[in-house]
Amino acid sequence: MGAGGPAGRGDRFGGCGVIGSLASRVAGRLSPASKRRVRRATDGVLSPVGSVRGVRTSARVVALTYDDGPDPEGTPAVLEALGELGVLATFFVLVERAEGHPALLRRILDEGHEVALHGIDHSRLTERSAGEVRRLLVEGKRRLEAVAGRRVRLFRPAFGAQSVGTFLAARRAGLDPVVWGPTVSDWVDGTAVEVAARALPAVHPGAVILLHDGFEVPVGDETPRPTFDRGDVTRSLVGALRGEGYEVMSVGGLLGCGQVWRTAWFRP
Ligand SMILES: [Zn+2]
Repeated sequence: MGAGGPAGRGDRFGGCGVIGSLASRVAGRLSPASKRRVRRATDGVLSPVGSVRGVRTSARVVALTYDDGPDPEGTPAVLEALGELGVLATFFVLVERAEGHPALLRRILDEGHEVALHGIDHSRLTERSAGEVRRLLVEGKRRLEAVAGRRVRLFRPAFGAQSVGTFLAARRAGLDPVVWGPTVSDWVDGTAVEVAARALPAVHPGAVILLHDGFEVPVGDETPRPTFDRGDVTRSLVGALRGEGYEVMSVGGLLGCGQVWRTAWFRP
């Protein structure tokens, strides 16, 4: 499994809230075997309300995830780069865009990538009633499965906005929420090399990295569409990761590489 090896850069329990930081503080004074037991206990406590944040492993493996597509400009650029690099990734797509660009969704799947749900549209579930949340998740999963022609299991809430209620509704709908660690913050402009480099300081074994193949900002937000080539961001990021000895893969691939790392992730 590889779980329980030396910690990567950053806090392995990072962002886990009270339980995680307590466990982290205790684990700092324990032997490796005891640390493993503490981590197993932490994971056990968090699993009923824990979102997938990566895997616990000492192996240099990371997942690439792309949100907000399919996008007629960004998605082909990203697919081109991933194809050249021989990397498979996970695309958290918006159902309305998948239905509007079925050929792009088909291309993502035909090229071997994983498709997951990001929402019917990009609204915050935390601002909806419980009944609406249930409907949006059940209907979103059903509609994406119809256009993709396969089962969809992974879900990433728009803006990472999640409450205990929306988390439980996702699980009841048969979806497993996936959050993220390092991000290239690619809603902010820069050169492709600069954008890719933003993620690197936070990368660690088992991390899930956030990028975007589409562009979506909250209503009223005047942020201009970034000008860099999203394919070049992928080329630069994967090049840098491989330079540090990392193997790059989809979330589904990563989950096969170690014990699932769940974190209590709740934000408005
Ligand atoms: Zn998004």
